[in-house]
Amino acid sequence: MPDTYENSLAFAQQQDAADPLRAFRDEFLFPQHEGKPVIYFTGNSLGLQPKGAAAALKQELDDWARHGVEGHFNAKNPWYPYHEFFSESLARIVGARPGEVVAMNGLTTNLHLLMVSFYRPSGTRVKILCEERPFPSDTYAFNSQAAFHGLDPKNAVVSMKPRAGEHTLRTDDIVERIEELGDELALVCFGGVNFLTGQAFDMKTITEAGHRVGAVVGFDLAHAAGNLKLALHDQNVDFACWCGYKYLNSGPGSVAGAFVHERHHRAQLPRFAGWWGHDKQERFLMEPVFKPMPSAEAWQLSNAPVFSMAVHRAALDLFDRAGMDALRTKSERLTGYLAFVIDEVVKATAVGLEVITPADPTQRGAQLSIIAHGKGRGLFDALTARGVVADWREPNVMRVAPVPLYNSFEDVWRFGQALEECLQG
Ligand SMILES: *Cc1c(COP(=O)(O)O)cnc(C)c1O
Repeated sequence: MPDTYENSLAFAQQQDAADPLRAFRDEFLFPQHEGKPVIYFTGNSLGLQPKGAAAALKQELDDWARHGVEGHFNAKNPWYPYHEFFSESLARIVGARPGEVVAMNGLTTNLHLLMVSFYRPSGTRVKILCEERPFPSDTYAFNSQAAFHGLDPKNAVVSMKPRAGEHTLRTDDIVERIEELGDELALVCFGGVNFLTGQAFDMKTITEAGHRVGAVVGFDLAHAAGNLKLALHDQNVDFACWCGYKYLNSGPGSVAGAFVHERHHRAQLPRFAGWWGHDKQERFLMEPVFKPMPSAEAWQLSNAPVFSMAVHRAALDLFDRAGMDALRTKSERLTGYLAFVIDEVVKATAVGLEVITPADPTQRGAQLSIIAHGKGRGLFDALTARGVVADWREPNVMRVAPVPLYNSFEDVWRFGQALEECLQG
């Protein structure tokens, strides 16, 4: 829809004035560059700090000072059930029922814990199918899980490459590959959005295809949670995990999340158990036999890390107030504007910028990945010097992500101006 956009400051400011979410920008702390907020397009890597985070954290520090151990029950926000504060918000964000989600650990830890339960190679059904170049941590997790089961990861872990000359995968090809692997396939585990290309996968179709051949289907939603509209429950996804610090703005290394579909809650699954997964009515009887909670909470190991969770609460509060529907509506328009502005810069400068993220809005979230043929790292450094915070991945991909919660149309316009200056300079 390029004809609905204009590459001008007046147009961008008019879009911002009409944006129902515009007030949320003031809820965040922006790093400064030469006295002005940077153009922060790396919310896909580390989201900005919500202004409410400091007070939320201080509340818990103060309650610790005031109550000591009694804070587990007497704090303003009691620590004992602290993880329960997230069930409703996380359920809305990932399209789940409250009992299907839990805030715990870090992302890779959760991926491992869930694979212990859901990657069960047996006989000839041993393979894991993933996209080519998943995030390195996921590759290490897949390979080490296969090796843990005594398998050779080179055979057990199958990754899918795009067709020659293409950067992203076609859904039809993914389905075909799943059917080809058939009863050799134990697990299909894709990203919700690939971190490098920004491609959003068709989770519904992939899940159905995986289930048709008898495989389990999980997703790493690091780049999808808080970015896309998700429907994990309705789409019958078996399990999923995500981190709290990208689109969810909960701070570096903050608490992550996990989803387990309710049809698995009462199944006898192998797991690495810990006391926080034990039936909470009986937890303090300290019985030696593990009795799992009939919910995603059964996968918890340890008591809640309240300080990182305090920030997570402040961050998720903003998602509750904005709502994923409104965020996604703005996001499609904002990312569309970025694609339009990049296109205008290409026309003005005749430099071959190639956006490798799909042009179809249903196949992408907030991120565009750009290859600047013949430019590369120098271009990225020049943008940084102009107050643009983007992200560079060797050998040649620049990732930019306008985040609907705090980025503006004016940010996108200013980015276009900076890009044009750098390419002409
Ligand atoms: C960011 C990211 C990670 C990082 O893992 P942590 O355990 O949070 O350090 C892993 N996988 C994917 C797909 C990611 O995007």
